[in-house]
Amino acid sequence: MSAEREIAGRPASGRAEHAGKHAAEHAAGRPAAQPFAATESPAARVVEPPSTDRRIAMPPAPPVLQRIAARTAAIGGGIPVRRVLPVRERRTIGAWCFLDHAGPAGFADGGGMRVGAHPHIGLQTFTWMIEGEVLHRDSLGNAQVVRPGQVNLMTAGRGIAHTEASLPGAGRLHAAQLWIALPPEVAGCEPAFEHHPALPQLRLGGCRVTLLAGSFGGQVAPTRVHSPLLGLELHAPQAEAVGLPLDPAFEYGLLPLAGEVHVGGERFVADELAYLGGGREALALDLAAGTRLLLLGGAPRREPIVIWWNFVAADKAAIAAAQRDWETGSARFGAVPGDDGEALTAPPLPWAAD
Ligand code: MN
Repeated sequence: MSAEREIAGRPASGRAEHAGKHAAEHAAGRPAAQPFAATESPAARVVEPPSTDRRIAMPPAPPVLQRIAARTAAIGGGIPVRRVLPVRERRTIGAWCFLDHAGPAGFADGGGMRVGAHPHIGLQTFTWMIEGEVLHRDSLGNAQVVRPGQVNLMTAGRGIAHTEASLPGAGRLHAAQLWIALPPEVAGCEPAFEHHPALPQLRLGGCRVTLLAGSFGGQVAPTRVHSPLLGLELHAPQAEAVGLPLDPAFEYGLLPLAGEVHVGGERFVADELAYLGGGREALALDLAAGTRLLLLGGAPRREPIVIWWNFVAADKAAIAAAQRDWETGSARFGAVPGDDGEALTAPPLPWAAD
């Protein structure tokens, strides 16, 4: 999958976006927030003497719970996708900087996903298959089919090109494709590709948990990532209430791919991202029967990030250089062996050339 068109951006400073519905409601109801409410009788006021220590015991801030709707996008082959990251309200969750939910969709033979050769830099592409079969080819010479329950993880580093196409006869597609921004010290590394035919499985009650990235429940995912992060898929064949330990140093987001989940007294359905913020020690979820969801977490990224088309970099100059190298057919990206389709053309840069 590839971003048809992306906008340049950088992570939000954080606090401003943390003012979710709950936070606002809580602030409004906090007694200290309205000490001179109009209904208050003047006679009832207590005039306090000046004090050098006016610390007031405030209730702890409630956890962040922000609802973010996906936007629709299109990838090659006409498969509809909902893009959850980056969106206006949120650009990153830890180092996770892109999340497309493709399908579930059926298609006639010869249809499905068909994304021609395109380049990447500065990121890892992380493909998690739920239904269907997709063939990945890249300029390192890899040709790998990814099937349900499997992950393809491509590290772009300084540059790579790849294609993705549904296998003939696949008939269905349901997948999540994520990007992970590489930290500055790794962003220019040599490109690499990993296929993981199986991921660690855990159970939380009747809920099936797949550890996609990071560590959880005493297990460590084999997927090689370069920032502190977590990726889990939860699948509840029957209705299930579960509690998960979280890392308070991480920020988290939760995306139902099917079904519905209640968190913090609110209901989230497929393609509604629940941004959960940081500082949480635990998370309680009520999953309806048949619900499948992704839980993503990571240490909030401090460095600026620019995302344009299929490129992630620290600044616009690095993006412009990559775009120029792709347009001129530089060996930086190389050809994809076995690919006889049309390569993708980058849209013009959205900022004036320096
Ligand atoms: Mn791609």
